[in-house]
Amino acid sequence: MTNRDSSSGKNKFFLVLGILIIIGLIGLYLFFAEQQNPSVTFAPEKEFVTPDTKFDFQSRDKDSGLDLVSIHLLQGDKEIEMFKKDFDKKVDEISKVLGLEKYRLKDGALSIKIKVRDNSWNNWFKGNVVVKTFNYTLDTEPPRITLKSYKHNLKVGGSGLVAFNVSESVKKIGVQANGYFFPAYSPPESDMYLCFFSYPYEFVGRDANLLIKAVDKAGNVRKTGFNYFVSRKNFLNSDIRISSNFLQKKMPGFQDNFPGTTDKLKLFLKVNKELRAKNREKLLSVGRQTEKKPLWSGAFMRLPDSAKSSSFGTYRTYYNQGEKIDNQRHLGVDLASVKGAKVPAANAGKVAYTGWLGIFGQVVIIDHGLGLQSMYAHLSRINVQEKDKVDKSEIIGNTGSTGMAGGDHLHFAILVSGVPVSPLEWWDKTWIRNNIKSKLNLLENNKE
Ligand SMILES: [Zn+2]
Repeated sequence: MTNRDSSSGKNKFFLVLGILIIIGLIGLYLFFAEQQNPSVTFAPEKEFVTPDTKFDFQSRDKDSGLDLVSIHLLQGDKEIEMFKKDFDKKVDEISKVLGLEKYRLKDGALSIKIKVRDNSWNNWFKGNVVVKTFNYTLDTEPPRITLKSYKHNLKVGGSGLVAFNVSESVKKIGVQANGYFFPAYSPPESDMYLCFFSYPYEFVGRDANLLIKAVDKAGNVRKTGFNYFVSRKNFLNSDIRISSNFLQKKMPGFQDNFPGTTDKLKLFLKVNKELRAKNREKLLSVGRQTEKKPLWSGAFMRLPDSAKSSSFGTYRTYYNQGEKIDNQRHLGVDLASVKGAKVPAANAGKVAYTGWLGIFGQVVIIDHGLGLQSMYAHLSRINVQEKDKVDKSEIIGNTGSTGMAGGDHLHFAILVSGVPVSPLEWWDKTWIRNNIKSKLNLLENNKE
């Protein structure tokens, strides 16, 4: 009786102890079996990569810490271990930079598979496991460029056109001339690229280095030279006297651009340097808004019955009360006619910009396609709106003296991807036939 009592008491004790141990173990398991996955980040996630691409791997687990990381590269039936780490003490975080350069890989598809496990007791002591696969296309070859035009006769500050084919799709292509870049465009239904470029006006006394540059989607870069011949001629010099009458008349219109500068001469200098530079930047961005085909034909028109009052490229020295105060290059042709003369579009195109543009006053810019544009500045009146199609000789506005103009005239500029070039060539039908039309004709032959 007593024995039975005591044995049943013992049994109860062990039963309770057993239950407590089980509850304790479950508690312990639940405590160590956190269910938070380790974080994994891997960049870049873009499609195209080169052997130089650097991949940034990061993983973090602040609950139970990281236990195992493995990174494998897969291509075809090849599987290469890029990185493996088995942690023997608690580590919360790892970051690693990985490259492809040491592996012998073929161009084409490849994947990178990442597996990370933490120290959690979750999943019956297997831990929380994250597996991620990233897919890429390896491209080791820079694009190949095949020239289609061979003769390029250039003048400093003048224009050129080069035609070429490229072996693969690209994210950037065009002519690079030191710090300048002239994008090339491939007209619809053609696989040929055409690039209007300039031997920029600033290379009047030194050599520019012109190259065709192509960057494919993976980032491989090709730079190819092409044949060109530059004939050099100095631009004119001229002295400009800034009178106090001019300052009184013109400067109040620019006060809003530099509210802190009340002295009229100081304001003039800021406008002539800083605002001019800002306005040129704007021309570069308008230059990118262009049709991918030529919208024009034949020689460009000059303002009828007008006299040239200032040439392209003229180096102007500004004087105030006999003292030299500034230098700037004049990057258009000034044409004077009667006051408020009607201004015809120099060629067919589409209006890319209308409105106020700082030193240029009221402006119209017409896009003729492939980055070629004409600009009409200091207008008193504008007849067209952005996106309007215009024909050659259609009246787009009237001359005036808005902006930094002393008297009524048209400042006419031709822009190649926003860079001013000499308009003389574009008024000359022989030059166009020999240097431009012959190359645009390649496009027609290429389509057939
Ligand atoms: Zn001008």
